[in-house]
Amino acid sequence: MNAYKQILVAVDLTEDSFQVVRKAVEVAGKNRTDIFIVHVVEFVYQVNVAYDPMFYPVFEDLGKNEEELIKISKEKMLGLIAKLEVEENIQVKSDVISGIPKTEILRLSEEQQVDLIVCGSHGRSGFELLLGSTANAILHHAPCDVLAVRTKKQSK
Ligand code: AMP
Repeated sequence: MNAYKQILVAVDLTEDSFQVVRKAVEVAGKNRTDIFIVHVVEFVYQVNVAYDPMFYPVFEDLGKNEEELIKISKEKMLGLIAKLEVEENIQVKSDVISGIPKTEILRLSEEQQVDLIVCGSHGRSGFELLLGSTANAILHHAPCDVLAVRTKKQSK
């Protein structure tokens, strides 16, 4: 099997994200490659919350504007990265953007010619589903391999 060269890690910044990123670091170590962690702030969806039955709002986020949500998410992202133990030869890059998570993750993976997307099997949306809705969309439409990390139910 060829080594992965570009790994994109999608995190919703719930507590489960650590399990997802840790697995990505493990894979990066074996493939001697860097990882790019991305979080998408779902501000657009908050406006349409009443129309989207799959949307699970984070109540502490409601009422905040997009700029505030991006700032909070960047802080959470730094906290997440600080907890990681990464070999020196692996670089961890990260970004927080806004939009619809599945759309942005798929767009980035094409744009950056990613060959592996690592995501959680479940995040904010439904543990009762076989796969969360974002994970499902990534799995169906990704232009590359997808590793869905089986996250344990701890942040719900
Ligand atoms: P979900 O489909 O919402 O249950 O989430 C499953 C996985 O999709 C999460 O564990 C993340 O890997 C990814 N994901 C969900 N929401 C986001 C987001 N806002 N930004 C980046 N990745 C996300």
